[in-house]
Amino acid sequence: MERLQKVIAHAGVASRRKAEQLIVDGRVKVNGKIVKELGVKVTPSDKVEVDGIPVEGEEPVYFLLYKPRGVLSSVADDKGRKVVTDYFEHVKQRIYPVGRLDYDTSGLLLLTNDGEFANLLMHPRNEIEKVYVAKVKGIPSRETLNHLQRGVRLEDGKTAPARVKVLSSDKQKQTAIIELTIHEGRNRQVRRMFEAVGHQVQKLKRERYGFLQLNGLSAGDARELTAHEVKQFR
Ligand code: URA
Repeated sequence: MERLQKVIAHAGVASRRKAEQLIVDGRVKVNGKIVKELGVKVTPSDKVEVDGIPVEGEEPVYFLLYKPRGVLSSVADDKGRKVVTDYFEHVKQRIYPVGRLDYDTSGLLLLTNDGEFANLLMHPRNEIEKVYVAKVKGIPSRETLNHLQRGVRLEDGKTAPARVKVLSSDKQKQTAIIELTIHEGRNRQVRRMFEAVGHQVQKLKRERYGFLQLNGLSAGDARELTAHEVKQFR
């Protein structure tokens, strides 16, 4: 959802101020109806016209990035750190990440300029499954794994049931590699869940987001989603 005057301005039809004037003057239609108030919000599927001429919105684009560790999930950083949009300098649309992975977490991150799509994916109601692989300190007991599975109490409430699988453990080094599947997307959720049961996360990677996986990609690689993949989420 974007303000009508912003959409008109971004399409290069007029400056933001001039776009407001066009609206007030009754020269702008949304889905065939004149809109004279400022502040009306539109989506990419709304048909906007100025003086009867359609305004082309930014074409929606969808990307999957294998985010490396040490990259911020944002569009800019005042400390000059690398951000995920640095991998998309060739993309003219203003894309942003769908949700976040921590600076030190690697793995699958989606980026788009389609706000509706991003909201859809992040809405808790949609319960998109996310699979993480964590290297943790210590070897969790069966009881601890059950606890993670049932849900652990965090400061922002108990976590929903999760699936847990031990992929390997190293008795010598006292570390384990655990696969955790969750539906929620709270801030630093996986790290906090393991901390709550006494195991510090040393490394974290998101392997899967819904039906999307990283197959064939290396850290720092990106690809566009296919139209079919985008449709499958809707
Ligand atoms: N959980 C975390 O703790 N960190 C992430 O980046 C994603 C999920």
